[in-house]
This record gives sequence, C-alpha cells and structure tokens, in this order.
Amino acid sequence: MAEKPLFERVALIGIGLIGSSLSHAIRKQRLAQHIAGHAQSQRTRDKAVELKLVDSIHADAAGAVKGADLVIICTPMSTYAAIGAAIAPHLKSGAILTDVGSVKQSVIRDLGPLLPDHVHFVPGHPVAGTEHSGPESGFAELFQGRWAILTPPPGTDEAAVEKLAELWRRVGSQVEIMEAGHHDKVLAITSHLPHLIAYCIVGTVTDLEEVTKSEVIKFSASGFRDFTRIAASDPIMWRDVFLNNREAVIEMLGRFTEDLTALQRNIRWGESDKLQELFTRTRDIRRGIIDAKQA
Ligand code: NAP
Repeated sequence: MAEKPLFERVALIGIGLIGSSLSHAIRKQRLAQHIAGHAQSQRTRDKAVELKLVDSIHADAAGAVKGADLVIICTPMSTYAAIGAAIAPHLKSGAILTDVGSVKQSVIRDLGPLLPDHVHFVPGHPVAGTEHSGPESGFAELFQGRWAILTPPPGTDEAAVEKLAELWRRVGSQVEIMEAGHHDKVLAITSHLPHLIAYCIVGTVTDLEEVTKSEVIKFSASGFRDFTRIAASDPIMWRDVFLNNREAVIEMLGRFTEDLTALQRNIRWGESDKLQELFTRTRDIRRGIIDAKQA
C-alpha cells in the first residue's frame, strides 16, 4: 500500500518562484494529497491551473486555507499583514502556518498577533532562489542541497516544527533551527548586503556619462555581468527585504563602508601587501563554498 502523504491539504498563498517550486517538489515527493492555491491576479491563477501546480485554485486566500493542515505563505512580505488578517478566522485547528519570507523578525511581528492559538506558527526561509519570478519560473530541484531555516518563536509545538522540517528535508533541503533575530543578522551579511551592493553598482554604471551603455554591455564579462544577474532580482521582494531588515542591514552596511574606505586607502597609498592579503583570504572563502557544495 502506498505511504500516506505527510500532509492532507497544503495551501500555497502566492504561486511565484518559491510557491511554484514548492508545488513541483511536493508533487514529485508525493507529500500532499491536495494542493490548494491562491494568487492575487487572474493571470497567475490561470497559469497555476494550466501548469497543474494546484488541485484547486481560489480567488480569495480564505478559501484556499479552509481545511488545510499546512499553509505556506509565499508572497512578498509587505502583503503578510493583510493576508494574515484574511486567513486567520478560517485556519483549521492544529494547522501549521509557515512562510518563506527572507526576513524573520518582521514576519513574527506582522503575523504572530493575528493568528489564533489553535494554529502552530513556524516561520521559515528556504535559502534558495533565482533572479526569476512568477509561476512559470519554479522547478522541483530548487531546494535540493540548500538550507531551509526555521525560526519558531519560543514555546512552539515541537512536533509541528519537526513535521515542517520533514517536509523541507523531503524536498531536498537541510534544516537549521535558528532564533529569528540571529537569522536576520546572518542573512543581512550573506544575502541582503550583496544584493544591495549589486543594485548599487549596476545603478552607478548606468549613471556614468563617460562610458556608453553599449560599452557596458559589450565588456560586461569583465565582472559587471555577475552583478547584473543579482540586480535583476524581483524589485518588490527586495524592496520588502530592506524595509523589513532595516537595522541589521544598516549595521552590516556600516561595517562594509568602513572596510571599503580602508580598501580605498590601500589603493591610494599603493599598499600592495594589504591588497594581496585580502584577495588571498577572499579566494579561500570561495573555495570553502565550493567544498560545501553551495556554489
Ligand atoms: P514571485 O515569484 O514574485 O511570486 C510572488 C507571488 O505572490 C505571486 O504568485 C503573486 O501573485 C503573489 N502575490 C503578490 N501579492 C499578493 C497579494 N497581495 N495577495 C495574494 N498573492 C499575492 O516571488 P517569490 O520569488 O516566489 O518570493 C515570494 C517570497 O519568497 C518572498 O517573501 C521572498 O522574500 C521569499 N523568498 C524569495 C527567494 C527568491 O530568490 N526569489 C528566496 C527565498 C525566499 P501574482 O502573480 O498574481 O501577482
């Protein structure tokens, strides 16, 4: 007899890159009997049906979560408060409510107070992504070999945390449990600051007057190209990341700015040893990432 799926009914609120990838992975691993979906536009809802990402589609989020034993919010974080208010009265008793947002303290602040006591709230963040968006961009392997971080508030039911961790493991991720504030600091330096630098450098280049746009494109393989991939990431999602992780990003940005000024000084004074020492250290970091299969 076939093994019973981990969940009976999973509700995906938001069917973009992360929501559609979860759908593909959940289907591939047979982790749910039924996937209910909701997205704000008719176009995305139609696409989700056409791509067989969902078994039922709902124009309202409340309809999608009815009877679900797992609800995963996969929308930009600025939508969480309104979505939380809309779904809260319709959540099944004992359901697990999670999300995939890139910042965790603000999610606990925005969603936590809205949820009834009979729901297990386990915020999450898959450290996996691409620069693409929308229901067509997802694929089942997105989470393979990547980390999924869970940040359950103190007192969260351990069985619920473990059940959600099992879902992430079955879609190929390794799971780490972390305090939300710590998550936001770690991600500020490993993800948010690099994106900010990419957005900034691409913006700076496009503002230059002495280098033409066609030269920038023609010679982009010299380094610029790699920043443009990151800077092509979804504008709404990244606006929300910076607005919701303000303090940690500003702290890391302060340290980065100091280091950048020191580097500027090294170049001005021809301090070759210092430059070479830094570039050697950074190369080791890259090798460590390759060894850890996170490249
Ligand atoms: P996406 O591809 O742009 O998809 C967003 C989805 O949310 C779309 O289905 C969109 O529907 C829906 N949506 C937007 N506003 C809504 C609203 N008010 N009500 C209902 N549905 C709404 O975004 P994504 O890349 O999957 O990102 C989703 C979340 O994942 C974000 O919170 C982000 O922080 C997190 N995350 C992203 C990455 C990444 O690399 N992209 C990685 C890790 C975590 P329509 O298409 O109808 O507008």
